[in-house]
Amino acid sequence: MKTSDVVDVYKTRICHYCGIGLDPEAPRGHLCRTTMDHKVPLKRGGSNTRENLVAACWSCNCRKNRKTAEEFLALLMKIGLIGTLRDRSGPAKPRAARVR
Ligand SMILES: [Zn+2]
Repeated sequence: MKTSDVVDVYKTRICHYCGIGLDPEAPRGHLCRTTMDHKVPLKRGGSNTRENLVAACWSCNCRKNRKTAEEFLALLMKIGLIGTLRDRSGPAKPRAARVR
């Protein structure tokens, strides 16, 4: 794993899975804390290359555990935590920033 890849991941401000706004300065265990996730877990043959690394919120990273990104996204949709499939190629709106 290259340091530049890690820095790159931690610059990401949107969770790869649920789309929530991320904050690398948030305290450990906070929902919005930026964590680095392997799309394909190392224990399932994933690598430490940039292509396999994404930023995820604390909550998603804990729940994803040994699932692949595809399996986890399917689970989020099944249980309704992703209401609509957002376009992952375009800019996403950080949901945590919504203020009433
Ligand atoms: Zn998330």
